[in-house]
Amino acid sequence: MAIKPVIDLRSDTVTKPTADMLSAMNSAPLGDDVFGEDPTVNTLEQRLADMFGFEAGLFCPSGTMTNQVGIKAHTQPLQEIICHRESHIYNYEGGGLAFNSQLSMRLLVGNRGLITAQQILDNINPEDIHRPTTTLVSQENTSNREGGAVHRVTEYEKTYVVCQQHGLKHHLDGARIFNALAVTGDSPASYGNTFDSVSICLSKGLGAPVGSVLVGNKDFIKLSRRIRKVFGGGMRQAGVIAAAGLYAIDNHIERIADDHRRAKQLEEALKSLPYIAEVFAVDTNLVIFRLADDMLADTFISELKSQGVLAIKMGPQMVRFVTHLDVDDADIDTTIKVLKSL
Ligand SMILES: *Cc1c(COP(=O)(O)O)cnc(C)c1O
Repeated sequence: MAIKPVIDLRSDTVTKPTADMLSAMNSAPLGDDVFGEDPTVNTLEQRLADMFGFEAGLFCPSGTMTNQVGIKAHTQPLQEIICHRESHIYNYEGGGLAFNSQLSMRLLVGNRGLITAQQILDNINPEDIHRPTTTLVSQENTSNREGGAVHRVTEYEKTYVVCQQHGLKHHLDGARIFNALAVTGDSPASYGNTFDSVSICLSKGLGAPVGSVLVGNKDFIKLSRRIRKVFGGGMRQAGVIAAAGLYAIDNHIERIADDHRRAKQLEEALKSLPYIAEVFAVDTNLVIFRLADDMLADTFISELKSQGVLAIKMGPQMVRFVTHLDVDDADIDTTIKVLKSL
C-alpha cells in the first residue's frame, strides 16, 4: 500500500474521484447540454429538483456560480439583499453581489449564521426613495464560517412565512446541505416548502470532483439558465462530470456521518491542548478553532505542514480542519498524535 504523502484537512473540496466514480463518469451517456441534450445532466438536475421538492434544476461548474446566478435571477439592480456577515456569498464570492447583481447588502450577525424571522422584520427597508428595496434573504446551511453550524428546517419555516408576507425571495446556500440533513434528519423535500431556491454542491462532502446544482421552480430555472449562459457557464458534454454527482448522490450520502464522527474526535483532542484558546462547537465536518496567546495561524499551519498535515487559515489566529471522503480513521489518529507533539 502506498504511503500517503499528506493528510489534507484544508477542505472537503480536495477529494479525488474514487475508482467506481471514475467508471460511472466513463460510461455516462453524453450530449450537448447547451442544446439541452445531455441525458446525464438532465437526469442529475431533475433528480436533485425532485429530491428537494422543486420543479427544476440547473447544473453549474461551481457553488459560487449557482449562488450568483440564483441571486441575479431573484433581483434587480438598486435592490437590497439581507445576508449574514459571515456568509460565503459575502465573504468568498469576490464581491459578486455588487458586480453581478448590483445589489446593496444588509449584513447581519449572530445565531451561528442563521438569519431569524425577527431579524428579517427588523431589517426590511421601508418604502422610501432614499432606501434600496429589500427583495431577497439568503441563508446558509451548514454555515461555513460558523464552524459548520447546522440549522433545522423548522427555523426556515418561520423565516419563509415572513419573506412571503413581505414579498421577499428566500434563497439557501446549501453547499453543505447534505451535512445538515445527516444531523437533523429533516427530509430534503421540506426545503421545497421553505425556500424559493437552493444551491447544492456536489464537490464538498459528496466527494464529486466538480459541480453544483441550483433548484427552484420552472420559470426561475429558465431565467437562471439564460444567466448561466451569460456568465459563461453553459457547458457542452457536461454529463461526464454530472455522472460523478449522480454517483455521489447514490453512494456518498450515508458515509457523511463518518466525517462528522471524525470531526468530533478532532474537536475533543483540540480541547485538551494548552495552545488552543477556543474550539467552535462541532456539528458536522468542519472544525474551527482559535490559537491561544499570540500564536499565529500562519506559524501553526506551517509547523503542521512540516509534519504532513494540512489546515487552512480562517483569520490571524483562526484555523480550520475539514474531514472528508479521503480522510480515514488512521489519518485522524495520526493528526491527533501530531497535534499533541507540537
Ligand atoms: C464551498 C462553498 C460554496 C461554493 O464554492 P465553490 O468553490 O464556488 O464551489 C458556497 N457556499 C459555501 C457555504 C461554501 O462552503
